[in-house]
Amino acid sequence: MRILIVGQGIAGTALAWALLQRGAMVRVADGNLEHSASVAAAGLINPVTGKFYVKTWRYDDFFPVAQRFYHQIEIALGLRVWSEVRVLRLLDTPKAANDWEARKSDESYTPLLSTCIEAGPWQPFVRLGGPWGETRGAARVDFPRLLSAFREYLSRKALFTAQHLTPEEALRCASDYDAVVFCEGWRGALNPFFPNLPWRLTVGTALLIRLKSPEANELRDVLKKNLLFIPLGDGTLWVGASYQQWSPEKPLPPLPTAALEAELQQVIRVPFERLRVVGGIRPTVRDRRPLIGRSPEYAHLFMFNGLGTKGALLAPYWAEHLAEHLLEGRSLSPEVRLERT
Ligand SMILES: Cc1cc2nc3c(=O)[nH]c(=O)nc-3n(C[C@H](O)[C@H](O)[C@H](O)COP(=O)(O)OP(=O)(O)OC[C@H]3O[C@@H](n4cnc5c(N)ncnc54)[C@H](O)[C@@H]3O)c2cc1C
Repeated sequence: MRILIVGQGIAGTALAWALLQRGAMVRVADGNLEHSASVAAAGLINPVTGKFYVKTWRYDDFFPVAQRFYHQIEIALGLRVWSEVRVLRLLDTPKAANDWEARKSDESYTPLLSTCIEAGPWQPFVRLGGPWGETRGAARVDFPRLLSAFREYLSRKALFTAQHLTPEEALRCASDYDAVVFCEGWRGALNPFFPNLPWRLTVGTALLIRLKSPEANELRDVLKKNLLFIPLGDGTLWVGASYQQWSPEKPLPPLPTAALEAELQQVIRVPFERLRVVGGIRPTVRDRRPLIGRSPEYAHLFMFNGLGTKGALLAPYWAEHLAEHLLEGRSLSPEVRLERT
């Protein structure tokens, strides 16, 4: 089977991999377009999130698939992109601490959650006292590294085209393929072959800073207050992110750098250097579920999108699911089908 994939963010990458593993012939096109999400993302997989400390949707099903996918692709590409980390979350009110304790005593959460008084290696860098809620079973994926290495891998095999395909161009190419899968991230909301989907796009902005202290190179764990502070190595931190709802007919909102700066000043007590602002548009959906399926108009055009705020965890599982649908005729789960909307 010959399949054209339009877009090589984490969705296109995971799908290309799943199809290649199953013996399909794949070509991937990416136009390196503005405001893509994966290259701005921290790539964090956090099993317990939100102010009610709720387990991420089907975390127990998705995590092992993600772990396997990232390990396999690390071996094939000869690089490390996956690190298992702890997330330390400030419990800054008695209610937060009580709610955390209550959640911890639920047996399906016990292996994931504990509490600590200090923030370990983070303590010298922060103005905050504990207690801290500690989450295990988290991981971080280095998306920029993975995406650029996979692009080189595809290019070496002559399977990659650096091109922005308009819908009309994609339709013209489609006769050379058995299927075309659009993995366009937020641009999926502009795709005329998939109308009336419940997009609720959000713009995300984060800051990259470097702590001016050699000990900062040793930081591994993720710290969370209102924002996430994610060590990238070399004392560099990814600090973010904002969530601003947006739709393509409006201008992009102003960058919320002042709010990000304010939280930085509240949390970090050592000198740091500002490196740059990163940002992208998340392909978020009203019911927070992926959007996977066939165009209502063209039987051989498909969409793989809607990974929202959780591309690192969701992409590997749903890429395999779609690959099995395309190659083996397995039916798509009603949880993600476009027609659910
Ligand atoms: C600031 C920020 C922080 C985030 N943090 C996390 C996090 O910690 N953990 C997590 O799991 N998720 C996070 N996310 C969400 C995550 O980034 C997304 O879930 C995921 O990256 C979506 O991937 P995608 O491949 O669907 O889209 P994208 O990454 O946007 O990729 C789409 C690709 O398609 C290409 N493209 C689009 N249209 C065309 C076309 N017509 N022709 C050719 N090429 C095309 C673009 O150039 C791009 O490369 C974050 C997002 C943001 C913005």
